[in-house]
Amino acid sequence: MGVEDLGDISGKRIFLRVDFNVPMAGGRITDDTRITASLPTIKYLLGKGCRLILASHLGRPKGKKVLEMSLSPIAAHLSGLIQKEVAMATDCIGPEVEKLVGNLKNGDVILLENLRFYPEEEKNDPDFSRQLAALAEIYVNDAFGTSHRAHASTCGVPAILKPAVSGFLLKKEVEALSKLLDNPEKPFLLILGGAKVSDKIGIIEHLLPMVDIVITGGGLAYTFVKAKNWPVGASLVDEERVPLAKEIIKKTYELHLYDFHTPLDHVIADKIAPDAKYLTTDRGTVPAGWIGVDIGPQAIKEYTDCISRARTIFWNGPLGVFEIDQFAVGTMAIARAVAASSAYTVVGGGDSIAALNKAGVADKISHISTGGGASLEFLEGKELPGIAILDKI
Ligand code: AMP
Repeated sequence: MGVEDLGDISGKRIFLRVDFNVPMAGGRITDDTRITASLPTIKYLLGKGCRLILASHLGRPKGKKVLEMSLSPIAAHLSGLIQKEVAMATDCIGPEVEKLVGNLKNGDVILLENLRFYPEEEKNDPDFSRQLAALAEIYVNDAFGTSHRAHASTCGVPAILKPAVSGFLLKKEVEALSKLLDNPEKPFLLILGGAKVSDKIGIIEHLLPMVDIVITGGGLAYTFVKAKNWPVGASLVDEERVPLAKEIIKKTYELHLYDFHTPLDHVIADKIAPDAKYLTTDRGTVPAGWIGVDIGPQAIKEYTDCISRARTIFWNGPLGVFEIDQFAVGTMAIARAVAASSAYTVVGGGDSIAALNKAGVADKISHISTGGGASLEFLEGKELPGIAILDKI
């Protein structure tokens, strides 16, 4: 059930879990994508005359009140976006919040303070959930990026408050990602980069029987290069997962998946820093003492060719240390190639999205997922607890 199925909800107090966990620098929002992504649900509910209670976390305050992680700048920003006052609560539970919520009129909106100021949020504490749930009559989840976490605001509250339904963003994410799992148009290409092999090995394992081409880059590629028994120099390697990477490579042979690529060449550096000495190799290995920091020109050529052949593409993770301009060439080339493709394209993960924005091509992607970790878990075939608890969507 979605927010659009709620019927007459005028005057109802709605607990809307949003994902306002936006990047901030010096108290300013540096990218408001996650806020604008929730606007359709917010505007819809306000248009219906609801009393809206918005709840989110921001950063990792680890259960303490950290002034720099207050949601207050977000209330001000949202207020500008919806051209309406957004009241900022000084807390997320307690008598003062209850009073503020009690005074809301139809069409009013209030933003609760950072949920993670309380350790009870991440522990899914029943009493904390009860206090949050007591503020409202209906629960709506639009926080896809947090739906893989069984926290109080994503699981505890919807277990108490009914109906508990999806917002427009959550539904859009589920539909877009489901298209990758349900009969994707072939060839299906998986592009994986970034640093954390541990986060992505699950998706490779799960999608391997479904995909036709896999290309690897970024730090993640070196665990696979090492699994081929090739030299990796001082590149990032998840030693613990090299045996698993070997298993995956073996499985690709069993599945006749011969389009499984590690980079044909690399940009290598003596350190990961803007003033590093760097050069391009002419092969897929890395000499001793050097660190692989980007895919090289031959790899770019091969990978863009794979992209042009694909009809369905999922990309997560940069193909190099793209925060440093000299090492961003591969990631930018892949971003442009994915954007130019006429395939069904889905991109997840903050860094890949930043790369698309940097290349100015974000609007050319079929679906950009607001939830990096959540989209990976969804595509691993896992049930996301924040979605499973909702009335069937
Ligand atoms: P992830 O969160 O796993 O997607 O990792 C993103 C991070 O991976 C970015 O901060 C990149 O700088 C980093 N990264 C990409 N390529 C490499 C590499 N070759 N070596 C080390 N880190 C990398």
